Amino acid sequence: MSNSGAWLTAGPADDPLIVLRSDFWGYNSIGIIGEDSACAVDPGVRPGELTRLRRSLETRRGQRLVSNVVLTHSHHDHIRGWQAFPGARISMPQVAAEKPAQARQRILAAVRAIDEHLAVTAPEFTYPLVDEAFDEMLAFDLGRCPVEVHFLPGHSNCTSVVHLPSCKTLLTADYLVMPGLPYCRWEVESHEDALRTLLRWCGEWGVERIVPAHNEILQGERLRAAILEDLEYFAVLREVVASELACGRDRESAVRRAAKRMGVRRGRDIGGRRRQDLDNARRVLGVLGN
Ligand SMILES: [Zn+2]
Repeated sequence: MSNSGAWLTAGPADDPLIVLRSDFWGYNSIGIIGEDSACAVDPGVRPGELTRLRRSLETRRGQRLVSNVVLTHSHHDHIRGWQAFPGARISMPQVAAEKPAQARQRILAAVRAIDEHLAVTAPEFTYPLVDEAFDEMLAFDLGRCPVEVHFLPGHSNCTSVVHLPSCKTLLTADYLVMPGLPYCRWEVESHEDALRTLLRWCGEWGVERIVPAHNEILQGERLRAAILEDLEYFAVLREVVASELACGRDRESAVRRAAKRMGVRRGRDIGGRRRQDLDNARRVLGVLGN
């Protein structure tokens, strides 16, 4: 069994949250432990990591069953572990649960590509069979640990985030995975709306900790700063793309030059992740072009 991954223990001993960080894509598999039962959120990535997460949810500080699995959205890295918790209720946003056949095929092909990369064999894997699909919100309680899942499209058309009032924590899926480089895989304007909503919720709900699906946990003053950084990124990118177009460049070179300028603005090398600048610039161009 693969033993990859590391537990991130950010909180006190009574923290309901556990996070297993994979060395693959800095992926955070998240677990929530209540007094009666437990929940896994977007569990991944390798079978060994899924087993570790399940065992920990079942046995850490007492014994319980994993009653719920929440899949925040349909992207392939987020659905890999849905079958690893027999008996658990599988929840997902309606839009994600009802992805058309063609989209499912694309997602499953991406799952298989990662399987191959990680030397994982999962012949039984299927697109999630969802017990509970929700429109705007889903709420349940694990025993003195309420869980609220809120639909928040933007990163994708099917993304949701998870609010844990008891520990003032927001699990933001693929929002804020790398502050200063928003991962927009759908519509720029919706992504910006989602960021503004996150900012409002952080204030209204008194959120003190954000756990994105990849990379670092954000705490305290970093929350607001990270959201504002992503909003500013889009504002700057719009200006940069517009200025490149105003110079009379064709659309493709405008996108490439804009992405490059965003990299220079960042001032540090982020390796292959800089492709997201290009992707974001294309999406901004789509908005400006309309
Ligand atoms: Zn995603």
